[in-house]
Amino acid sequence: MSPANAKLNAFPVFMRVDGQAVAIVGNGEEALAKARLVSQSSAVLRIVADNASRGLLDFIASTGAVHINAAYEAVHLQGAALAFAASGDEALDRRVVDDARRLGVAVNAVDRPELCDFFTPALVNRAPVVIAIGTEGAGPVLAQMLRGRIDRMLSPSLGRLAAFAASFRAAAERLPKGNRRRRFWNDFFAGAPAKAIEAGDLDEAHGAALELLSADAPAEGHIALVGAGPGAEDLVTLRAHRLLMEADAIVYDALVPEAIVAMGRRDAERLPVGKRKGCHSKSQEEINTLLIELGRAGKRVVRLKSGDPLVFGRAGEEMAALRDAGIAYEVVPGVTAAFAAAADFELPLTLRGVSSSMVFTTGHDLKGNSLPDWAKLAISGATVAVYMGRSVAAEVAGRLIEAGLSPDTAVAVVENASLGNRRRFHGTLADLPSLEERADLTGPVMTIIGDAVAGANFERSEPLAAHRHEGAASAVAEGVEQ
Ligand code: SAH
Repeated sequence: MSPANAKLNAFPVFMRVDGQAVAIVGNGEEALAKARLVSQSSAVLRIVADNASRGLLDFIASTGAVHINAAYEAVHLQGAALAFAASGDEALDRRVVDDARRLGVAVNAVDRPELCDFFTPALVNRAPVVIAIGTEGAGPVLAQMLRGRIDRMLSPSLGRLAAFAASFRAAAERLPKGNRRRRFWNDFFAGAPAKAIEAGDLDEAHGAALELLSADAPAEGHIALVGAGPGAEDLVTLRAHRLLMEADAIVYDALVPEAIVAMGRRDAERLPVGKRKGCHSKSQEEINTLLIELGRAGKRVVRLKSGDPLVFGRAGEEMAALRDAGIAYEVVPGVTAAFAAAADFELPLTLRGVSSSMVFTTGHDLKGNSLPDWAKLAISGATVAVYMGRSVAAEVAGRLIEAGLSPDTAVAVVENASLGNRRRFHGTLADLPSLEERADLTGPVMTIIGDAVAGANFERSEPLAAHRHEGAASAVAEGVEQ
């Protein structure tokens, strides 16, 4: 931990270099690295290099940098805003530093911090927005790691958004100072204009920004139906993560782990609506109403669903309700449980010559006499992923066998797919009914049936058949969303 009174030894500033010369002395890799860095700006690069390397020559040709093809002399630094000593030759670098100081040019000597007047940060560049990262003595690896993390957190369209914002500065200045103006910019950067820029629709963004400017138009709400993935935190998409960090409210189901909800903005309202064991849960109707209310109140809402929101997540009803209420929404896909379970089993869902189609189904549509379509597909060779299938495992197996699927057909079962406490089971269709009797399966369970399952890796799975006589069925919640 850094002490509370830790001071920066180098103070970050943004130096104006537009149209000014930046001199780089050196003819190899180090000079090229600095040249690349500086060429992200509109400075005029002046590269002092006799015997320049191929790479440096190519760079000069492609960027139009000024090339001084001569042995270094102090006069080459004249009038530069900044200078870099990047020759790799200690004596020469030292000379460059001395000359620069005499001429009043701030200088950086590559890999010689003790000779530097300034340091170059790692950059996350979304021009005109830039984030500069300095780590002082801790070194470039940490800086690059942080750069990667920050880069992933920011929308690729941030630069466009900032440039667009600049064109509204004058208009925003006419709004009353304080709350009203702040709210305009808040809604601008997190609301409809930002969304439209992200979608690449400049006209729409313009319209939305004008609307925000006009009188006291209340902020428009927005609901994102977001897939949280199967449970592992690092299977959340970058887009989901970003929306969570921008959300005013997070409405989430029981199967979504707390750790993922906790990725949200710290002061976001967190509203559990799912069917968790022993807790009161909301009806679908109540959830729809809640989303509409939040939207009408101008909130940016993340409706977080396990897996993919469009797979057995009742998203259809929520989208219809939002459409009817005229509330804007979007859908962010997630890794569905079938894919996570297949990955845990190294199970090819399609397998050349064996299975070329796949079915996402639930065992809950097996009532009645006619065989549902998916069962027919299973018989013709599709790989079948059964959601919410634990409590109807016997029914699923019985009906498939009755319809003609071999009792020897391979079956893979994963409880808590993608999570550290996952358990894998393998067996045949004939073993599948044993699932229903197992009181020890308290997490969500995915069942995959079909010949392609035989291509999975069974080294880390237990045989299903070992548990054929486990005792009575328990009343554990299955994490049912439908
Ligand atoms: N929208 C979700 C599915 C919701 S239905 C998705 O795309 O994955 C709930 C069912 O999903 C559970 O009964 C179980 O069959 C399955 N499921 C969800 N998460 C799971 C997990 N981590 N491991 C195994 N099955 C899971």
